[in-house]
Amino acid sequence: MNLKINNRFSTELPADPDETNVTRQVKNACFSYVTPKIPSKPQLIHFSEEVIELLGISKEEARSTEFTNVFSGKELLPESRPYSMSYAGHQFGNWAGQLGDGRAIILAEIENQQQVYTLQLKGAGMTPYSRSADGLAVFRSSIREHLCSEAMFHLGVPTTRSLSLILTGDQVLRDVMYDGHPDYEKGAVVCRVAESFIRFGNFELFSSQNDIKTLKSITDFTIKYYFPEIKGTTKDSYIQFFQEVATKTRDMVVHWQRVGFVHGVMNTDNMSILGLTIDYGPYGWLEDYNPNWTPNTTDRENRRYRFGNQPQIALWNLYQLANALFPLIEEATPLETILNDFQSQYEIDYLNMMRSKLGLFTNEENDNQLIHILTENLQLIETDMTIFFRKLSQIQKEDAVEKAMEIIQESFYKTAEVTDKVKDSWLYWFTQYLSRLQQEETTDEARKIAMDRVNPKYVFRNYMAQLAIEAAEKEDYTLIEELHLLLKKPYQEQLQSEKWFTKRPDWAREKIGSSMLSCSS
Ligand code: AMP
Ligand code: MG
Repeated sequence: MNLKINNRFSTELPADPDETNVTRQVKNACFSYVTPKIPSKPQLIHFSEEVIELLGISKEEARSTEFTNVFSGKELLPESRPYSMSYAGHQFGNWAGQLGDGRAIILAEIENQQQVYTLQLKGAGMTPYSRSADGLAVFRSSIREHLCSEAMFHLGVPTTRSLSLILTGDQVLRDVMYDGHPDYEKGAVVCRVAESFIRFGNFELFSSQNDIKTLKSITDFTIKYYFPEIKGTTKDSYIQFFQEVATKTRDMVVHWQRVGFVHGVMNTDNMSILGLTIDYGPYGWLEDYNPNWTPNTTDRENRRYRFGNQPQIALWNLYQLANALFPLIEEATPLETILNDFQSQYEIDYLNMMRSKLGLFTNEENDNQLIHILTENLQLIETDMTIFFRKLSQIQKEDAVEKAMEIIQESFYKTAEVTDKVKDSWLYWFTQYLSRLQQEETTDEARKIAMDRVNPKYVFRNYMAQLAIEAAEKEDYTLIEELHLLLKKPYQEQLQSEKWFTKRPDWAREKIGSSMLSCSS
């Protein structure tokens, strides 16, 4: 492998002078140098063909021992000096102080075809930011992160990517349900790839330490490389920067709501400054359309990070970022204006996104109402979000309401629950929807094509991840590859894969891993 290193973050920003790998509080530094833990027997399980191509790695190289060694942490890239980032954050609404990359180590920034990518190992051992944990990752959560980041990319959702999934050959102790019954599991390392892994928490850290100099350095650095359209280092530049981050964050959340993705841990340390979906932990996919659903058992009581609350939380997190950037701006009004606009702009974006899911190309005053009734109806009985929207495109303008109802019938989990009352609510909605379609000039065919581009046929359902994990634990990795390929084309009909276009099976309803995950996931 001949990777061209172009380390910008670690050459331009202040390093922690202490290079011992001991858990500690770090001051006035954006990162600490650290060496990945050497795995005892690394084994490549999967790599993403698209990501190797981004980096200029050939398939032969990806199958080499060198690749497995480098992306498991066994061997360092020549001239590389791995490091972990320092950052802070608000967790579940509370200030948590310094956090940092406790189990993530950046190998290098790599340049290929004028693009620079940061390569980061997740699960390669302890760092100064590991606090009381071990710096490791288990196989099941690494499979989830590897497959989901690639699936999200192909769904068109801004996200970090995943290059590789490698077993370390070491055991990791985990208490899956925090009930005092820990068990050994296989350890693994995923190599994540993104332009940058800078988070809201990087800015919060320096602001909280009242280290305005480093706050300014990291902000200027972020603007210079990732927001090059913003010129200068004035208050106005920083206001514009905040506006851009708000816009990107909003865009990301609108995508999540479109595909039914629930992040599960929207702490400010898990919010990318580039508006990328980052840190795939106890995330999940809405199957039954329930805005109150969260996959994260740790958040079961408050449901802070439930599906329906994600836009509000994004805004809350942006408030924290605004506070962090305040010392560079020293004026509240422009920040408040941006935060206030977030709410109204989100509503507009959401409405347009839902219009696209419904195949509406024009704007009518009552669309809001139509969408509101729809989301109410989707909650009457358990209804599969993905199947419902995908089936909707089969409806034709001239169809009778009963016919429309029949088309989406398959999205109901229990047909016995379709009482007369439920049926009436749906017939009412279809009456409205069909008459709304009549106002559109688009043909049924054109509408179907457009709808099928925004309503995925295949998403990474929670039980699919679980099946891939269970097989992989038995050393059968075929399902990882099968799902990876399936999810590369989530909007396409793949008739040989029709079996994945079904509702969640009954066994997965309450199963740990399928419907319930903890932060240790
Ligand atoms: P999360 O919310 O899961 O992204 O993690 C919150 C913080 O805990 C971050 O600073 C992580 O780096 C750290 N962390 C999570 N799991 C581990 C682990 N197994 N070892 C060390 N640090 C961890
Ligand atoms: Mg995190």
